[in-house]
Amino acid sequence: MTNLNLISPALAYIDGQWVGHPEGKTFGVNNPANGKSLAQVPDMGTIEAQEAIEAAAQAFELWRKQTAIVRADLLWRWYELIRAHAEVLAELITAEQGKPLAEARGEVAYGNSFVRWFAEEARRSYGTLIPTESPDRRLMVIKQPVGVVAAITPWNFPLAMITRKLAPALAAGCTVVLKPSEETPLTALALAKLAEMAGIPPGVLNVVTGLDAPMLGLLFCTHPTVRKLSFTGSTAVGKRLMQQSADGLKRLSLELGGNAPFIVFDDADLNAAVEGAIVAKYRNGGQTCVCANRILVQDAVYESFVEKFSQAVSFLQVGQGDEPQVDIGPLINPRALEKVKGLLADAQAKGAHIVLGGKPHALGGTFFEPTVLTEAKPAMLLSQEEIFGPVAPIYRFRTEEEAISLANSTPYGLAAYFYGRDIGRVWRVAEALEYGMVGVNTGLVSTAVAPFGGIKHSGLGREGAREGLEEYLQIKYMALGGL
Ligand code: ADP
Repeated sequence: MTNLNLISPALAYIDGQWVGHPEGKTFGVNNPANGKSLAQVPDMGTIEAQEAIEAAAQAFELWRKQTAIVRADLLWRWYELIRAHAEVLAELITAEQGKPLAEARGEVAYGNSFVRWFAEEARRSYGTLIPTESPDRRLMVIKQPVGVVAAITPWNFPLAMITRKLAPALAAGCTVVLKPSEETPLTALALAKLAEMAGIPPGVLNVVTGLDAPMLGLLFCTHPTVRKLSFTGSTAVGKRLMQQSADGLKRLSLELGGNAPFIVFDDADLNAAVEGAIVAKYRNGGQTCVCANRILVQDAVYESFVEKFSQAVSFLQVGQGDEPQVDIGPLINPRALEKVKGLLADAQAKGAHIVLGGKPHALGGTFFEPTVLTEAKPAMLLSQEEIFGPVAPIYRFRTEEEAISLANSTPYGLAAYFYGRDIGRVWRVAEALEYGMVGVNTGLVSTAVAPFGGIKHSGLGREGAREGLEEYLQIKYMALGGL
């Protein structure tokens, strides 16, 4: 493996300086595939985070005044550098997160597509001239950057969850303090290193690594200089951040948990549905917020779907992400393994039938067997919670109404998928699903050009697309009188 330190300095990045904790406090980053230590990174506290916020505030005064083309050119340079370092970034992602190298390469390309998109969109934050209501007045609307943004990101996509926030923030003219997940800070620091190399000015992007996420989160939510918080993570933490931000009335983007239904109707192309379900369920070992959490299959095709799907799952190779041909890496940590085991035990106790897998993998550690369950029921815990592991529960339904009702019977509303060919039903079901994103005859909806985000308990705001830039802009209406 390439020397990780060349690309990730393993120091925090504040005001253009690579810094450690003043008293040398650090925490360890481990490879989840073998438990080996990768690096020690600074365990920063509120004092250091405050310094980062102040640096971001100072940098904002200059950054906001740059023309969009200047910001766009810097983003383009960042994009080119990420592309030039794609392989070492992918290796780093696999090392600290565990996903197969092929998926890590995919993440770099996907994550970088946001930098490219927002380098383009930087110049599209148009305002409006409103036809006036009075002859001696002219009315106009301009868009201005929100200000200092705090970003908190998770471990499941150590690169893409960051670029989705940073690229639009920087394009809009905001400056950022990022707190990456304590599980995967090295990729975040590598991205900052490349941003520095690209010439993004000191203070515009700051990365504060730290173990005490609740303390850093509270600071971001209550610090008057922070004007916006963008968070991706669990619904429980998202709600807490929203409560903490209420007093300061911060702008919020919250990308929270999901409970995606994946519906297979009786007229579906079953082979395509199986292929889509494999992607939707087992990508990143089931550890994404848009992973199929419940596979709902219509009565008439239930048995044949289960057979084809289980066969496809039986071919999935489990192993360390840097080994060739591996499809599924380890779970992120022992806590995740315990959660999956607990959900499975509950489902079995309530009548689920294990068709494939069902236990920790012989490789040990946090590896888990790709698992297929049939006769899953809404009363089981895995129907209500994000599984976040390679476990596919399959439910049986009879009618379209029943499928929609089952699919919507969750507080979450991030992604939903269904397979079917009847054009009337395609429209009816797509419109009836209470979700922010619907994949019809596809198991993959994520792309930088479309608005990613959820409704209900899955959060607020959108990432990517035109809408992604608006999250970091505020509207100013100006009335010019006395003409
Ligand atoms: P996950 O279960 O996917 O790790 P979390 O919501 O726990 O989801 O973590 C997502 C991000 O939120 C991580 O960067 C984590 O450090 C951070 N985080 C966890 N708890 C809090 C909190 N109370 N306040 C702010 N950030 C938090």
